[in-house]
Amino acid sequence: MGEFELINHYFAAAPCAQGGEGVALGIGDDCALLDLPPGEQLAVSTDTLVAGVHFPAVCDPLLLGQRSLAVAASDLAAMGATAIGFTLALTLPDVGPDWLAAYADGLGRMAHRCRMSLIGGDTTRGPLSITVTVFGRVPAGQALRRSGARPGDLLCVGGSLGKAAGALPLVLGEREAPAAQAEPLLAHYWSPMPQLTLGALLRGKATAALDISDGLLADCGHIAKASGVALEVNLAQVPVSPALEAFLGREAALQAALTGGDDYVLAFTLPPEALAPLAGLGCIEVHIIGRVLEGQGVTLRDSQGQDITPVQRGYQHFRERP
Ligand code: ADP
Ligand code: MG
Repeated sequence: MGEFELINHYFAAAPCAQGGEGVALGIGDDCALLDLPPGEQLAVSTDTLVAGVHFPAVCDPLLLGQRSLAVAASDLAAMGATAIGFTLALTLPDVGPDWLAAYADGLGRMAHRCRMSLIGGDTTRGPLSITVTVFGRVPAGQALRRSGARPGDLLCVGGSLGKAAGALPLVLGEREAPAAQAEPLLAHYWSPMPQLTLGALLRGKATAALDISDGLLADCGHIAKASGVALEVNLAQVPVSPALEAFLGREAALQAALTGGDDYVLAFTLPPEALAPLAGLGCIEVHIIGRVLEGQGVTLRDSQGQDITPVQRGYQHFRERP
């Protein structure tokens, strides 16, 4: 199958590529065209997943399809943007029709869940690598940035942390676990649900936000730096799922929640009075885990208030391992 046949069969003909709200022109021309309502800004973000770095080279293509869109769409959630569409740049070794069909199916399932359309892409041959660029819209001036946290704000997260990091030994086949433990962890690793609803609800309420991709403490460091404030995290308030704790034990589960990557859960700051209307909405999960203070950096405190901040805070490409 040639490049154009492949694009047409697996991607242009997919249900998620048939257009949707905001898509004036989809796959097939030199560019896609998006319509933005008056008074809205375009939010754009790109993520690349490389085989052997971001996922095992041998894995279920359906799960990979879900994950490759989810991690990119999570950045739209973090900005409080409403998803419109995405492009897919695929570099493929010799893969068969079964692989492509399953990959496109997984991608389509996540696109459906996020209500976004596949609007274009690029297809090349080479070592497996997937780049997804997502496009969203947000009322002008209302995007959630990293820079607005203020002393007195609460620090919150949108769900339990550490599940994806905890799943890694299962993903890599290094360990096994009973289904009750393995399933929720693997589900979160392969199919993290971008918190688009939460992000949109936080517009006009949160003073700063991001999605946790490199570990809670490392990512809180980004908010602290961009906002020129200090963040304090209370260990006892950090939410850890029962499955993760059963699998790793309390100590290692907390370690995964604090420094493990790939959570794609939102972390945000907001004044205490802005939390009440959110807490009243049964449909979303919000946990207070700390607060914003004057100063700089991120401090982790135990239940006695002792500073127990670890040295290693998260994952960074290109950094020498200690
Ligand atoms: P060009 O040569 O003008 O860059 P291409 O031949 O690469 O265009 O692509 C033809 C059309 O197919 C374009 O609309 C492009 O966006 C789309 N496309 C290519 N690869 C993919 C893909 N993997 N998924 C979705 N659309 C794709
Ligand atoms: Mg062209």
